[in-house]
Amino acid sequence: MRIVLLGAPGSGKGTQAALLVEQLKVPHISTGALLRNAAKKGTELGLKAKSIIDRGELVPDDIMAGIIEERLGREDVADGYILDGYPRNLAQAKSLDSMLERLGKPADEAILIDVDPEQIIKRLARRAKEEDRVDDAEQTVRNRMRVYAEQTAPVADYYAERGMLTRVLGDGQKEEILQRILSVLNVYNTSD
Ligand code: ADP
Repeated sequence: MRIVLLGAPGSGKGTQAALLVEQLKVPHISTGALLRNAAKKGTELGLKAKSIIDRGELVPDDIMAGIIEERLGREDVADGYILDGYPRNLAQAKSLDSMLERLGKPADEAILIDVDPEQIIKRLARRAKEEDRVDDAEQTVRNRMRVYAEQTAPVADYYAERGMLTRVLGDGQKEEILQRILSVLNVYNTSD
């Protein structure tokens, strides 16, 4: 099962990806988590990424392509993947397509988790406190929402044009949303 998860910051992509991992037994690849890890380790790349992330901007495409290619080349990706946070603009979508083609692992489905922007602002304000994420501060959230609308929303159209996109309502309990995603994937929930 090879899945691309799309959605605005705070749409619950990361939460759903973690739940999907339990059901599908394929790795969750979150570019945000990969970058935050690199930042925590204090690698040169991580430190450069951190200042960009804290401003709510996108890390340059060539850096992201290197990170994602290395991750997708690992053995645990043999049976599939759940991509979360990549691709984030059209250039990344195109580069991902050719990368996956080369690796013989093209994506099966793109799922967009749809949430009302007003609700997102509230959720992220809460997460800023709970997870101490500098990039969830209000001004940065606004910037991330702008970057999302301008650069990431067109990625959904890109997959829609290829007949790969399904939109899932991101409102409600996380288990309900998981069920919606699983039914798109024709998978039964194994936890009940
Ligand atoms: P969210 O979806 O809530 O914005 P993420 O953890 O996916 O959170 O991403 C956090 C930040 O990491 C982004 O705002 C961006 O700065 C950086 N980032 C993550 N993925 C990418 C990507 N594919 N391209 C560029 N920057 C990225």
